[in-house]
Amino acid sequence: MQYVSTRGSAPALGFEDVTLAGLASDGGLYLPERWPSFSAEDIRALSGLSYVETAVRVMAPFVAGSLSEEELRELCTAAYGRFSHDAVTPLVQLDHRHWLLELFHGPTLAFKDVALQLLGQLFERFLSRREDHLTIVGATSGDTGSAAIDAVAGRAKIDIFMLHPEGRVSDVQRRQMTTVLAPNVYNIAIDGSFDDAQALVKAMFNDAAFARRFNLSAVNSINWARLMAQVVYYFYAAVRLGAPERAIAFSVPTGNFGDVFAGYVAAQMGLPVAKLMVATNVNDILHRALAEGDYSQGQVVATATPSMDIQVSSNFERLLFDAGGRDGKALAEQMKGFEASKAMRLTNAQRDGASKLFTSARVDADGMTMAMRWAYDAAGQVIDPHSAIGLAAARTVDLDPSVPVVTLATAHPAKFPTAVERATGTRPALPSRVGDLFAREEAYAKLPGTFDAVTAYVAERATPRA
Ligand SMILES: *Cc1c(COP(=O)(O)O)cnc(C)c1O
Repeated sequence: MQYVSTRGSAPALGFEDVTLAGLASDGGLYLPERWPSFSAEDIRALSGLSYVETAVRVMAPFVAGSLSEEELRELCTAAYGRFSHDAVTPLVQLDHRHWLLELFHGPTLAFKDVALQLLGQLFERFLSRREDHLTIVGATSGDTGSAAIDAVAGRAKIDIFMLHPEGRVSDVQRRQMTTVLAPNVYNIAIDGSFDDAQALVKAMFNDAAFARRFNLSAVNSINWARLMAQVVYYFYAAVRLGAPERAIAFSVPTGNFGDVFAGYVAAQMGLPVAKLMVATNVNDILHRALAEGDYSQGQVVATATPSMDIQVSSNFERLLFDAGGRDGKALAEQMKGFEASKAMRLTNAQRDGASKLFTSARVDADGMTMAMRWAYDAAGQVIDPHSAIGLAAARTVDLDPSVPVVTLATAHPAKFPTAVERATGTRPALPSRVGDLFAREEAYAKLPGTFDAVTAYVAERATPRA
């Protein structure tokens, strides 16, 4: 499989190169040159398969030319063997119509593990083929940092430097990062905000000599391999609820548009998806874009769902490209306009292309609280605030009541105990596999938020390229 850039001028690359590159050299994002196609018969054949076998069938066409089916199976077995539930992403029924797809049974309790555990395996496999080394540098306000650290801890060909704003992540989130004591893991608490930490990371990537010397790489959701791994659970859930004989709707709490775009990919491959509900909190740029064609950046408002407090959704560019007719040159112009003015209108082709599958809703704090209470009262389910945004939106979807509606449950409630307790009166306990988190030793550096301090720290510890 070859991959093309959404901005039309970077060279087409195979899966291995796309995984290691992350962003395309023209500033665009990579997508497969065409969608693999699954017939009704192919989908029927997934019925009853384990998560790992489903993953192998669904991802095989995307990795063709870079990994054999046997290699892919090995990597998936290693990645998903670390999940605490045998089904990896189990479905839970809430009422006649509504279901939760629990994506938080990985090591760090959020859905990002599903993609990052596999990405860690892919990185290691490809780097050992090349005898190359990567330095991952990232900034985190919570879930991505711990999932990425867990996925690469102890790997010989990778060092990871993760910056977090000192005192501004929760104790659970900090300890999930700082108690990983592997020699290739470096946690850095920055004196400053998340935006300051993010700006430092960007500055390191922009220093071309520094980036080349240490082979810097990013782990945010612009990486195609992350999205690919997320396509699997749409198939896995839909087949269990009757696909291909009946269509299923999904509601997805959305920030960077990665998770819900994976649902779009599943639909392009032939999975019968009745609707994709894009659920946003009050940071509603995606809701405005889909409902009115207005993609304009507002001020980020801090909410109880920090992983969705986003005003620019990087993966939305992939939808604009594919739904708008795959004109990379035109999209490059459109994105240049957006970067200059922080606002753009969707074209008619983009709006028509998106409206076939997507609908959207904006959920405020009251809507979120009510959904948490409803899940608890109706089905005894304690859900996290992000999942609650998805569920609140799911309950507004305008579809025939015979269509099952699956809400993606993106985090374990114990990651956000205060908000959950406020809504339901129940304080969720950490699952036993992370239960001793507060007894473990922590290690992290504290640095001033200056470019010189951080680059000096990284340069002293990272492995330069041969
Ligand atoms: C990252 C995250 C999201 C948003 O996912 P996107 O792929 O960025 O849309 C939602 N919920 C939780 C808990 C997350 O960690």
